[in-house]
Amino acid sequence: MTTSVYPLRAFADNYIWVIRGGRNAAVVDPGDAAPVLEHLKAERLNLSDILITHHHGDHIGGLPELTAEFNVPVYGPAKSHIHHLTHTLREGDVVNLPELDLSFQVMESPGHTLDHIAYYGHGWLFCGDTLFACGCGRLFEGTAAQLYGSLQKFAALPADTAVFCAHEYTLNNIRFAKAVDGDCAPLLKRETAEAAKRARDEPTVPSLMQLERETNPFLRCAEADFRRMLRAKKIIGDDDPVRAFAALRAWKDKF
Ligand SMILES: [Zn+2]
Repeated sequence: MTTSVYPLRAFADNYIWVIRGGRNAAVVDPGDAAPVLEHLKAERLNLSDILITHHHGDHIGGLPELTAEFNVPVYGPAKSHIHHLTHTLREGDVVNLPELDLSFQVMESPGHTLDHIAYYGHGWLFCGDTLFACGCGRLFEGTAAQLYGSLQKFAALPADTAVFCAHEYTLNNIRFAKAVDGDCAPLLKRETAEAAKRARDEPTVPSLMQLERETNPFLRCAEADFRRMLRAKKIIGDDDPVRAFAALRAWKDKF
């Protein structure tokens, strides 16, 4: 079965990911039911499963309406109190989607929220609001150390992993990344490519893990050379990767 993954737009800049195989489709983080219902109807698809990454309203807001209409498995984090979940998940659990002939490994990724999980499989990472293209989620509930650890866990995935995050924040993130390191050649190249996609009104997501490792300042905190550059610019005072990450996250909050 050929499987494809593509976004539905919701709200100002959210992506609801559709994982489609034949006439079946799963959706990830349906913050709004309307675009999902419209799409299922227009494409005559059967909804097979719903996957949730964390408890924020713009990721779960469509659940009451979707679960009223479809009796399908709803997967989400065990460390949350989300209504409508039928299966709760923890680190290392495997989610099987038999209608799509797919399975995903669950990775707990606290930081943005404490309940946050990601789904990894088939070269795809559905990472919600943890890792963004050239950025990362805000620290709403967790600590900088937690989010840094979650991001490094993702960074250890294969270079060709496609990163499906939940928002179109890329150009703004690149603007910040350039303020941090305007000499990063892959970043400058990326800016041109992503700006061209946005000019055509195309999503910049998914991105590739290799590109994130090379250009995302929040992942690059793990590199000694990157921290040396931050020290030279007086952004940090020592060589601690978590403190470097926390400093950049705090700067980005005000950027
Ligand atoms: Zn969120």
